Amino acid sequence: MNDIEANLSAILHQMEQACRRCGRDPHSVRLIGVTKQVSVEKIRQAAAAGLRCFGENYVQEGIRKIEALSDLYLEWHFIGRLQTNKVKHAVQRFSWIHTLDRLSLARELNKRAGNLGHRVSVLLQVHLGDEETKGGVAPDELEALFDEAQAMEWLEVRGLMAVPPYFEDPEAVRPFFRNLRQWLERLRLKASHPERMTELSMGMSHDFHVAIEEGATMIRVGTALFGPRTNRA
Ligand SMILES: *Cc1c(COP(=O)(O)O)cnc(C)c1O
Repeated sequence: MNDIEANLSAILHQMEQACRRCGRDPHSVRLIGVTKQVSVEKIRQAAAAGLRCFGENYVQEGIRKIEALSDLYLEWHFIGRLQTNKVKHAVQRFSWIHTLDRLSLARELNKRAGNLGHRVSVLLQVHLGDEETKGGVAPDELEALFDEAQAMEWLEVRGLMAVPPYFEDPEAVRPFFRNLRQWLERLRLKASHPERMTELSMGMSHDFHVAIEEGATMIRVGTALFGPRTNRA
């Protein structure tokens, strides 16, 4: 067994345990391998070990990898900050966009997806905590963005995503995860297709078990799967 296989199997085991603790079906949580600064070779190893979903933060880097791995049947998620001028390429290559956080971006995504003639699945990224650096729509503007986005023809708003502040103790992140789930429940009440508004993308290497207990349906795991990154992204 190589390192990535061993890491993957440890993560899947922890996911199962977290699901068992809160009575959830392990199939209700999608593991996304985060591949920023990870080589194509390592991604291939993870795919060979059975992982199907991967997440990238950068459009160009992502496209290069998606092309190099086009012989495999993989599902790609865009999880980084999305610049408006990269939207055209992002909607062509990625099945999911996790980081819709402003109206101008929603309009551009809608336009470009319309040009391609296929709907794009999006999550609204919510800014939780008061750190300046992280993206996301402010909670008091979330409802307005949701209303606009769900009315757009080519956008399929499927849920919410957040990158909460970092705490050494994963328990300290729990209130942020819970808060995101409460927002999802609130928005679902006014969703035109509540049955589609089901996804919560939250939890990373050191806190995904807590995120699962709080309802995560997608966890984004980099370091625990691929090892430490050489540069901080
Ligand atoms: C890098 C990154 C991750 C993965 O972080 P790890 O701590 O390495 O698991 C998850 N989500 C986003 C948005 C990221 O940028």
